[in-house]
Order: sequence, then C-alpha cells, then structure tokens
Amino acid sequence: MSRKLSGRLVIATHNPGKLTEMQELLAPYGIEAVSAGALNLPEPEETGTTFRANARIKAEAAAKAAGLPAFADDSGLVVDALDGAPGIFSARWGGPQKDFVMAMGEVDAQLTACGAVTPAQRTARFVSALCLAWPDGHLEEFEGVVEGQVVSPPRGTHGFGYDACFLPDGYDQTFGEMPSQVKHSMPPLGLGLSHRARAFRLLSQACLDN
Ligand code: IMP
Repeated sequence: MSRKLSGRLVIATHNPGKLTEMQELLAPYGIEAVSAGALNLPEPEETGTTFRANARIKAEAAAKAAGLPAFADDSGLVVDALDGAPGIFSARWGGPQKDFVMAMGEVDAQLTACGAVTPAQRTARFVSALCLAWPDGHLEEFEGVVEGQVVSPPRGTHGFGYDACFLPDGYDQTFGEMPSQVKHSMPPLGLGLSHRARAFRLLSQACLDN
C-alpha cells in the first residue's frame, strides 16, 4: 500500500526551474513545496550508478536533514548505440557552461563514429526517476520513460537540454519543436508525453489524493 503525501514537502533541488515546475504540479493537491536550497540543506554527492539510485540519495538526504518528506528526481538521455551514454552524466556533458548544443553535437559525433547513421541505429530514450523519502525511512519510487531516436541536425527552439535532438516515437516533431506544455502537461492542455510527466502521473496515482 503506497503512503499518501500531505502538508509540507521538501523538493531536493537547488535548481529554481525544477522547484517551480514541482510547485505547479503539487499545488492542486494542497501540498506546500519548499526547496532544499531555501532550507539551506547540503547537496549530497550523486554517487549512484543509476537514475533511481541518484534520486534516492538526494531524497533520503533531504528527508533526514529536514525531518520532512522529501522529493527528488534524476533524469537524462540514454542512447542505445552509445551503451546508454550520456545517461546519468547527461547534465555533465553540457560542461560548466551548460552548453547542450555542444552536448548534442557530441552525441551525434559519437553515433557517427560508431557507424550509427540510420534512424533504427539511433534509438534512445529519456528516463526520469522520482523518489519520495520520509524521515522514518519509508520510500516510494517511480520511473517514467519516453522512447524515440536521436536526429541530426537538432530541430526546434523549445525546451532545454537534449530536447532538439530527440524525436519521440509516433511523432514527427522533436521535443524542441513541441511547445513545453504539449510535452509536459497532462491532457487536455498537453500530451503528457515526457518521461517526467509519465513518472509524475504514477506518483500522483499512488501518493496524492486524486
Ligand atoms: P538532472 O536530472 O538535473 O541531473 O539533469 C538531467 C539532464 O538530462 C539535464 O541537464 C538535461 O540535459 C537532460 N534532460 C533531462 N530531461 C530532459 C528533457 O526533458 N529534455 C531535454 N533534456 C533533458
């Protein structure tokens, strides 16, 4: 039986964009979201080897430090022909300048270098792992995936990160060509297509009062 969330929740992120997104998603459920940054919580090192492990490290550390339930996510782009790279290192491939035009160029160059040039050889997925941790050690974990392929050159100016080079299966627009609301929001506003939207839907079904 899943544990329900109520009251205050720490969002284990120091990223203002992620905090705003979570506050918007949680507000309709009467959950007050405060950030780990606002509570001056230390940022743990992400030493896990999977998205799930890293989300758990962040959520557990924040729950313990704040004495409140905490939420964390970890996500990235997994490219089959690159043995799963950039994967959990997706953010790092952007370098200190967070230059994802460069990172998308690197994905394309590595695919070309290993002979992956056709769409069937360029399959990839975005993965989002979400973790809710309570101070007593209880955990709820969810994962969302969206399958697709890496396209070259990147297309579109919406979104962030690797959006412009990712074509989701069944669509002819990349995530960079779709308005963010179409990518992330649930119907009727959007398609709820993204890995994060899919993971959040599972979380809300299990842990929020619908
Ligand atoms: P983290 O989850 O904050 O560690 O960072 C994940 C990284 O993966 C981001 O910096 C992006 O580069 C990439 N990423 C995750 N989700 C998306 C997405 O929806 N679109 C594009 N890039 C993404």
